[in-house]
Amino acid sequence: MNRVVVVGAGVLGLTVAHELAVAGHRVHVVADRAARDSVSAVAAAIWFPHAVALEPDVLESSRVTYDRLTKLADDPATGVVMRSGLVRVRRAETDLSWTSAVPWHEPVAEGVRCTVPVVETSRYLSWLGARVAALGVSTTWGTVSLPGRQGAEALPAAVAAIIGEQPDAVVVAAGLRSGALLGGDDEVYPIRGQVVRLANPGLTEWVTDEDNPGGLTYVVPRTDDVVCGGTGQIGDRDETIDPATEEAILRRVRELVPALADQPVLSRAVGLRPARTNRRLEMIGELVACYGHGGSGFTLSWGDAARVAELLG
Ligand SMILES: Cc1cc2nc3c(=O)[nH]c(=O)nc-3n(C[C@H](O)[C@H](O)[C@H](O)COP(=O)(O)OP(=O)(O)OC[C@H]3O[C@@H](n4cnc5c(N)ncnc54)[C@H](O)[C@@H]3O)c2cc1C
Repeated sequence: MNRVVVVGAGVLGLTVAHELAVAGHRVHVVADRAARDSVSAVAAAIWFPHAVALEPDVLESSRVTYDRLTKLADDPATGVVMRSGLVRVRRAETDLSWTSAVPWHEPVAEGVRCTVPVVETSRYLSWLGARVAALGVSTTWGTVSLPGRQGAEALPAAVAAIIGEQPDAVVVAAGLRSGALLGGDDEVYPIRGQVVRLANPGLTEWVTDEDNPGGLTYVVPRTDDVVCGGTGQIGDRDETIDPATEEAILRRVRELVPALADQPVLSRAVGLRPARTNRRLEMIGELVACYGHGGSGFTLSWGDAARVAELLG
């Protein structure tokens, strides 16, 4: 049994902590933001590989996650719900390889209809945090930083300074700030996403329209609201709500789903998706990198967590 420290308490950090604890490791999470205050809480969060390169191992992780989330949907306490909807396809060259992971999907005139897991983030992240704690994972709130210009080799000592014990291995699942913990990573960049949440008029079906001429558009109904998006602003780090962007989102989603016309705004949010040329999942000495999931952190979470557990043996 190894002492493994996971840096990060977003959906990746918590899911990795879960799988490592199940595999028998002694796991400690270190983070400076709880999941409810991280990018993970802003996500829609529908199972769909978005803003991530569709490499074979990414598809495999998304398949594993699809199956896992489908099982979790049997228990209402998890906040995972299976919902049908439409992926609008406007370009002939659109990559549809993700459909291989989806048991029910059907081509239709506007795109692909399918059934996928939708994760209601606030319920799910609380459930996951409680599961992880029940497995004996401990958590320390604090910021890990590498003093001066030190490289990744200084990370175990930096973590030890916070938890008071030398780890056998460290998993970096710190989203957008992961590169800084590994001595720098030029390939990481933010993709800004703005959403507005409306009251749900009784919708159960979702719709995504990535190539809408007005910009990325999606409508994801949840139990208590409907997540309406969005934006995919590459390199933009502005975390404040832009009212003009919200107006434009509302116009597009109401055109797509007229039932949303008179629904009041319940809340709004912005999140910076932690994107990378390719999401990083590899062992570097006694460190494991697990970040850069772009718009697919939930979609890849269980598959990638299982692979981290495999890497650590
Ligand atoms: C608008 C929007 C819609 C989205 N929709 C979807 C969707 O439908 N489906 C989907 O799969 N994904 C979606 N995503 C993407 C998804 O939210 C992200 O991929 C995912 O949340 C990334 O999770 P993470 O755990 O890597 O990072 P985060 O959630 O950002 O968590 C990072 C964690 O690391 C900690 N941390 C970072 N640096 C340090 C440090 N130095 N010291 C200590 N702690 C540190 C933070 O405190 C935090 O706990 C969406 C994102 C946005 C913004």
